[in-house]
Amino acid sequence: MPSKGKRIVRCPSCYFAFDISYGRAMACSGCISLVQCDMVKCPKCGYEFPLSPGRKRLL
Ligand SMILES: [Zn+2]
Repeated sequence: MPSKGKRIVRCPSCYFAFDISYGRAMACSGCISLVQCDMVKCPKCGYEFPLSPGRKRLL
């Protein structure tokens, strides 16, 4: 079953898999664009990459 609100992403740099909200809490704390941001930052290596590359789904 699909779980709402939880999205696991994988860092293209170190292949560390983490929840987006986890990355937000860990790596993005203090960032002013925290609320609306299309980027995810890997809490492990600090690599920043865009969410859902090439694909955008409207609600
Ligand atoms: Zn990484």
